[in-house]
Parts: sequence; C-alpha cells; structure tokens
Amino acid sequence: MAQPDASHYVAGAPLEDNGGTPFESYDPATGEPIARLRAATKAVIDAAVRSADGAWRDWAARPGVERGRVLLRAAALLRERNRELSVLETRDTGKALQETLVADAASAADALEWFGGIAASIGGQMIPLGADFAYTRREPLGVCVGIGAWNYPIQIAAWKAAPALACGNAMIFKPSEVTPLSALKLAEILTEAGLPAGLFNVVQGASAVGSNLTANPFVAKVSMTGSVPTGRKVYTAAAEGLKPATLELGGKSPLIVFEDADLDDAVSGAMLGNFYSTGQVCTNGTRVFVHASLRDAFIERLVARTERIRIGDPLDEATQMGPLVSHTQREKVLSYIEAGREEGARLLTGGGIPEVAGFPNGAWIEPTIFADVTDTMTIAREEIFGPVLSLLTFEDEAEVIARANGTGFGLAAGLFTKDLARAHRVAAALDAGTLWINGYNLTPVEIPFGGVKASGLGRENGWAAIDHYSQVKSVHVTTGSVDCPY
Ligand code: NDP
Repeated sequence: MAQPDASHYVAGAPLEDNGGTPFESYDPATGEPIARLRAATKAVIDAAVRSADGAWRDWAARPGVERGRVLLRAAALLRERNRELSVLETRDTGKALQETLVADAASAADALEWFGGIAASIGGQMIPLGADFAYTRREPLGVCVGIGAWNYPIQIAAWKAAPALACGNAMIFKPSEVTPLSALKLAEILTEAGLPAGLFNVVQGASAVGSNLTANPFVAKVSMTGSVPTGRKVYTAAAEGLKPATLELGGKSPLIVFEDADLDDAVSGAMLGNFYSTGQVCTNGTRVFVHASLRDAFIERLVARTERIRIGDPLDEATQMGPLVSHTQREKVLSYIEAGREEGARLLTGGGIPEVAGFPNGAWIEPTIFADVTDTMTIAREEIFGPVLSLLTFEDEAEVIARANGTGFGLAAGLFTKDLARAHRVAAALDAGTLWINGYNLTPVEIPFGGVKASGLGRENGWAAIDHYSQVKSVHVTTGSVDCPY
C-alpha cells in the first residue's frame, strides 16, 4: 500500500473527514488497490478555502526573493526524493519507472526552480506622463484552484502551483481521483521547504469537488488540465463568477514528415509522440503525415522498432511501456482500435492485449499502428489517449498544412525536414500552441505551453504563465496641483 496519512492536506497538515465518500487508488499494473481515501466534504472544502484565503495576503506582501527561496528549497527536496516520488507515481499511474524518473517529479522540480528564480523579478512598469507619472503593480489574484488530469499528476500540480505561489497567490489543488497520491507529497515537501500553512492545499474527490471549488465565491481563478468536455464545464462555471480560467485540454496533433527528413529521427519523433506514457500525453502527434515517397521505408523502420518496445513490470527500469492508467481507459482505447478496423484502416502492428507474465490483471495494451488512415476516420478525428498511431500520406506542402489544420483542436504540432525555410514557413502556418521542428514532445518549463482552438485557453510555464496568475494595477501619481474646472 502507498496509504497516505490522510486524504487531504489543508492549512499545512494532513486532514481527514470520515464523512467523505470513500474511493480507492489502484496500481494499474496489478489491478490491486494501493490506497483508500475519501472525497472532500463541504467541511474540507470550506477549511481549504478559509486557510488559503487567510494566508495569501501575508505571502504576497513578502519580497519576491523570499517567496522564491521557498520554491527553490522545495525543488531541491523533490530532486533529493526523486526516486521515492517516481516509484509512487509509477504505482499510481502505471507509467514506466524509466519515464517517471526523468519526467514527473523532475519536471515539477524544474517548475519550482524556474518560478522560484524569477519570483524576485515579477514587477511592474514605470510610465512617464510629463510632470506626472504612473506605475503598474503586478498583484496576485488571491485563492487559485488547480484541477489535474491523471497522466502527469505531480508535474501538473507543480506547473500550476509554482507560478501561482511565485506571484503571491494561494492554491487549492484537486488531483484526478484516479491518481490522488503524489500531490499530497508535494504539499508535505512545500511545508518542509518553509511554505506557510494554507498556501498549498490538496483536496481529493471527483468532478463534484472540482465544480464546488470553481464556483466558490472566495476562489479568484481556476486552472484545469483535462479533456475538452470538462474544460467547457469549468469555463462555463468560471464565467458565471467572472473568474479567469486557464484550460490545458486535449489534442489531435499532426506530425509532418517531409520528403527530405532524417528518417530515423522522424521515426523516433513519431514513437516518442505516440508511445511515451503509454500514449497518454495530451500533445501526442497522433496524426503522422508522411510524404508519399517515404511511406514504405518509414513504415518498415517504424513497425520494426515498435515491435521491439519492452512492455512489462513498470517498476523494472528496463521496461519501456507500462499499462494504461485504468481498465476504463483501456476499454476506451480498444473501442477506438475497433473503430479503426471497421472503418477500413490497415492494422500494421498491435491492436490487442499483451500477456505480461506475473501481471494478469494489468490494464495492458499493445502499441498499435494503423496505415491507410484517412482524414475522416474516427481515429484521425478524436483524441484516443492511448498508444495508437495513425499514418496518413500526403503529396505537397499546401495540402498537408490544410489537412493538419482541419481539426477543432490546436494543442501542438511537429515537423521533420532539413529545409530551413520550409520548417519556419510551415511552423507559422500550423494551428498549434507549441510546435516542434525536428523533435517532438519536449516541454521545458522555460517555454510557454498551452493550446489554441478547442485545446485550451491561457498558457502555463515561461513568463507567459505570470500573466495568468497576476493582475495589473495602475497607479497614477499627480505631482502638481489638481487641474479642476469647478
Ligand atoms: P477529465 O477532463 O475527465 O478530468 C480532468 C479533471 O477535472 C479531473 O480532476 C476531474 O475530476 C475534474 N473534473 C471533472 N469534471 C469537472 C467539473 N465539472 N468541474 C471541475 N472539475 C471537474 O480528464 P482526465 O483526467 O480523463 O484526463 C485526460 C484528458 O486530459 C485528456 O483528454 C487529455 O487530452 C487531457 N490533458 C490535457 C493536457 C494539457 O495540458 N493540454 C495534459 C494532460 C491531459 P475526476 O477525474 O477526479 O472526476
């Protein structure tokens, strides 16, 4: 078991309310429960809101360098405990330990380090007005709510908490009910690093807890990572309270391989962009457009390398692919694979459930590749959130740009080419919040991250995130006598 001391973390300490609806967190590799928790009751939510509301003004009044120091200490603690945190994340999500060791707590530490580093530089502008002048103050919003998805639990918590805290806000974070554990560890670490009580609270529960938090009148802002339908609900609820919302939603991103691409690198990009985290990455390049002249060579290398992916015990560092996060998610992915078959896509490899010795009850799935996919097929239009790669072919640049943009999503895109002019021309033409040239799925904290079209609103990471966790106050200063006609 990975049982925490209590389900929630409020006012700087673990908190339990036995009146909350019980739920379990499962290890997706074994199918066994690893923790029993309770959803937040109204009393827990009220306690979290009270403690956050009582804490942020003092925190905001401190010099930025002091706030930053706490975040930097937390980053160091995360790095010291990276292995222990990675094992916990692997058990809760099923993602292979070789990934969680580098992409989860480590990414959370990067965010705390980067926002800790800039906290002292978050400031305003001086605006000369002749004899008078004005200045702007960048002020916090107050109590911010973060709502997470299950694919990168601790990373999502830190990508939201780090900029919020750097700006002087408090945060109440609700993890996905499927992966509730690592956010509690982040809360403990922030307290150990010196974060005053009430500034980072964790409350557990499903959608009702998320919607209660969003609607709470003391909450000033909400940042949610998850699916488009949930994003629409959160945005509607935030609009009702005239609250700003940051929404990091789903995608159906294109990855374009031009005829002059380095074939091995392009295959690597397509594999990283479809199979990392067992395909449960929002930015995945699930529509792989390959120039018709490269198609056969691309398929040969892609299929050979995909069939060598090692599936197995996610805690074994040699394992390259763990199970999906849950059996529910596997049912969803299998139904998309079935739709691909029925609608006439050609299954090149995978499509089934592998036997994994010693783990008969895991949510396993084979990495799957379909060829001869057309733009109108379900697997080319809807987000699957599993290791299912669709191959499409194209003949020319204008055609592939139009087809790549022919979706309601706009989270990310990638392209492989050696032609510098084409790379930047196509990068400018694609509808995407992030675009990778000759690479895929790299999300360093320094660069803004977020979607266009239905893939989201606002940006996380980089300086852009500061705009979404602060507001500008203008202060006008009159230096002479007041000019008044009365
Ligand atoms: P969901 O949209 O189902 O849930 C996201 C979070 O919102 C969960 O914590 C969920 O609670 C909560 N929630 C659900 N309903 C409401 C509501 N009405 N009000 C407030 N909160 C609510 O997403 P998943 O967890 O299933 O994650 C997968 C999705 O996330 C994929 O579509 C993927 O594309 C997207 N995603 C986007 C990313 C991005 O940055 N753009 C990154 C990662 C994932 P609970 O689940 O506990 O009920």
